[in-house]
Formats: sequence, structure tokens, C-alpha cells
Amino acid sequence: MADQKTTDFPAPAASDGAAQARRAMAWAHTARFLTTASRLDQLPATELPEIAFVGRSNAGKSTAINTLTQQKRLAFASKTPGRTQHINLFELGPRDAADALFADLPGYGYAAVSRGDKERWQKVMADYLEVRRSLTGVVLMVDSRLGFTDLDLQLLEFVAPRVANGSVKLLVLLTKADKLNRRDADRALKTCSDTLAAIGTEESDIGIALFSALNKRGVDDTAVLLRSWVAA
Ligand code: GDP
Repeated sequence: MADQKTTDFPAPAASDGAAQARRAMAWAHTARFLTTASRLDQLPATELPEIAFVGRSNAGKSTAINTLTQQKRLAFASKTPGRTQHINLFELGPRDAADALFADLPGYGYAAVSRGDKERWQKVMADYLEVRRSLTGVVLMVDSRLGFTDLDLQLLEFVAPRVANGSVKLLVLLTKADKLNRRDADRALKTCSDTLAAIGTEESDIGIALFSALNKRGVDDTAVLLRSWVAA
């Protein structure tokens, strides 16, 4: 991508930034469990814009979802044995007029997973990211101390065509940012941005941000951005 639009969140207008963040956090808080599926064809067909959360195991995905939605155990189901390979859907917005879905996709890269499981995972992820029509955005969680792993890059490849043509937005959250000093945080952003430059185009909408569930860095801004994706 020649001209990366965001290496961090754009500063909101000072006057309404706080109110906008409050509204976005209130919206995120409405998230409630909808359904779980082990196969794509079990997912409900929907017109609602869907935001998928992806990342390798231990990247901090469940913690990030729980932090964003301000719910202690919302993403806990994804960790239940037997459910780790499932796609869990959450509905957001007013109960009688849902306006978006969050999809918590299976974490990947867990060492103990068998080869057969890995292949199955790849197929489910590739299919989901390529064909799910209602997919509006992808939030990729990457441990800020580790950066992209091979499986993260593979996943980016699955979704790159849709990001490049502007039909799917991408936000990379560098998680556990509380563990980095400023210099390392800057370096993590730069490395990540260089990698992403290779997959985007000028049409595409790619964001990168530091995120911490511990000190809440990036939380409000993420909620505002995700809300803007689905409100468009
Ligand atoms: P998942 O496998 O991607 O869902 O990862 P989890 O959300 O379970 O997090 C993995 C580990 O990282 C847990 O021990 C969390 O407590 C820890 N963790 C998650 N987010 C943060 C964070 O923002 N800061 C710190 N310091 N630790 C975190």
C-alpha cells in the first residue's frame, strides 16, 4: 500500500471525542451470545455487518473481546474444550433491532493441535474469510512482543484480496502493549506497518494500533472504529 492511512488511530475532534467513545463503548457492551458453529454452513445467513476477531492462541483475543464489550466472560465459550474450533457469534445493538455481529474465530497455532486439525482450521478460516458475504471487517490480534507469525501471515493472505478491493476493513491490534516501553512499541508499529504495506492498496482501509486490556490503551478507539465500520 503506497500510502498507509493509519499507523495509529487518528485523533478524534477534541470536542466530541469523549462522547463518541462513550457511545461506542455502550454499543460494544450490548454484545450477547447468539450461536456457535463448527462448520460454515451452520452459520446463520445474515444481512447484519459482521466483524471477525482472529489471532493465534494466547494472542489476547478473548481478553480483548471481553474488554471491548466490558463483560467478564463473553468470549469464554471459545475456550471451552470442544469449542475451541468453533466460530462463536455475538449480536450487538438493541435487542429488537440488532445492528451488527461479532464473530470470534478459532485461535490458531496451538502446538498440541494435530495436523488434521490444522488443515481443517485452514479450510474453515480461508472459506470464512473469502466467502462470508456479510463480513465487513477483520480484527487481527497479534502479541505486540512477537509480531506476525507465519500463521498470521497466512491468514492475512486469505483475506488480502477483500481488503485490497476495499470490501473488508482490517484492524491489527498489537496486544499486551503494557508490556512494551515506548521505543519497543514504536518499533512494533513500524514492523507491522511495513508488513501490511505489502498487502494493501490505496483503496484499502487498514489500521494498526497498540492495545492493552490491562491499562485500556486503544480500547475506546477500537470501539469507535468498529462502530464506524458497521454504521457506514
Ligand atoms: P487468546 O488465547 O488469544 O484468547 O488469549 P487470552 O485472552 O486468553 O490471553 C492470553 C494471556 O495473555 C492471558 O494470560 C491473559 O491474561 C494475557 N493478556 C491478555 N491481554 C493482556 C494485556 O492487555 N496485557 C497483559 N499484560 N496480559 C494480557
